[in-house]
Amino acid sequence: MSIPFIDLKTQYNRYKSEIDQRVLSVLEHGQYIMGPEVSELESQLADFLGVKHALACSSGTDALVLPLMTKSLTAVDAVFIPTFTFFATAESVSLAGGTPVFVDIDPQTYNMCPESLEAAINRVTQEGRLNPRGIIPVDLFGIAADYKRIQPIADKHELFVLEDAAQGFGAGYFGQRAGGIGDVGATSFYPAKPLGCYGDGGAVFTNDSSLHEELISLRVHGQGHTGDKYDNIRIGMNGRMDTIQAAILIEKLAHYAEEIELRNNVAQRYTHRLQGVVETPIVPEGQESVWAQYSVQVANRDEVREALAQAGIPTAVFYPTPIHRSTAYKSLGSENSSFPVSEHVSTRIFSLPMHPYLSEEQIDTICAVLVQTAKI
Ligand SMILES: *Cc1c(COP(=O)(O)O)cnc(C)c1O
Repeated sequence: MSIPFIDLKTQYNRYKSEIDQRVLSVLEHGQYIMGPEVSELESQLADFLGVKHALACSSGTDALVLPLMTKSLTAVDAVFIPTFTFFATAESVSLAGGTPVFVDIDPQTYNMCPESLEAAINRVTQEGRLNPRGIIPVDLFGIAADYKRIQPIADKHELFVLEDAAQGFGAGYFGQRAGGIGDVGATSFYPAKPLGCYGDGGAVFTNDSSLHEELISLRVHGQGHTGDKYDNIRIGMNGRMDTIQAAILIEKLAHYAEEIELRNNVAQRYTHRLQGVVETPIVPEGQESVWAQYSVQVANRDEVREALAQAGIPTAVFYPTPIHRSTAYKSLGSENSSFPVSEHVSTRIFSLPMHPYLSEEQIDTICAVLVQTAKI
């Protein structure tokens, strides 16, 4: 018997009647684009995070690109991002016309390292080729980045903070929720994310009403807010979320707080069993993870993953290649920087099955294989 890495089928079966009914009602009312479910979802998402505005959009990538489009970036504008993240964080900067500058991570949380950030800003300023403009901290694996230390650095250098909460939507951070911490936040509803729809989707969050107005326009080809729909006032994109996806998310959001709790129970049992066996994840004081991934480090990753695979237990490596080494970005000139933590972690890390419905027996089966094979 094999254990699923994530279990969307069990989740669908639990909420099937509500989801089916919601989707059917969209099929019947027929407003497939920007139907009433989209704004209904937006106000629920904003309430969930405790922010003024949520804008539903087509994907997590577009949720990053849309706010970046308001910054009028050019190739000399530097946006600082961790090199240990999903490719889309870097790509969004390039798509919006700017240049990503890579920063190393903290060895415990795997999130952007504030010292490395400050060093990168100073280096870029000294070199004089690029102008520091913004920072995209990533809430990796479900834990919010270190905003208490990043925000003062941003303030000092007058940089915007765009929060990439694609893996962290709703994670607890000293009374705030991830997605709603930066000047503007972006998330993804890709099916495998902690809160996912049944296709592509994303959202942008902000307390800045004029930014929100601009995002509304950018989402639909830069349309004007009033008057002639065909007199576009800026260059935007087709960044809309399908009404059907919004309908699905409304039903799944209703259960999300409970699912976060279940994910935390799973993580607690893993950590209890695996302490001293592998390097277990660390959730800093004052924070709560939404466990997009339960990622551990070992010295003999291939061997351990092979033993787990033999036992019918799937694993994944996030991320085997820091972005500064990717084919697309290796020519960017990161040779003046070094990323020892990202390099080290990328050779050792991998993720175990994580979803709200993992049973205690399944967790114990997984941990037993690790106890037998893992070397720290
Ligand atoms: C998934 C992800 C994205 C992109 O989201 P999509 O919906 O797939 O476009 C961006 N950043 C991070 C950190 C992600 O994990």
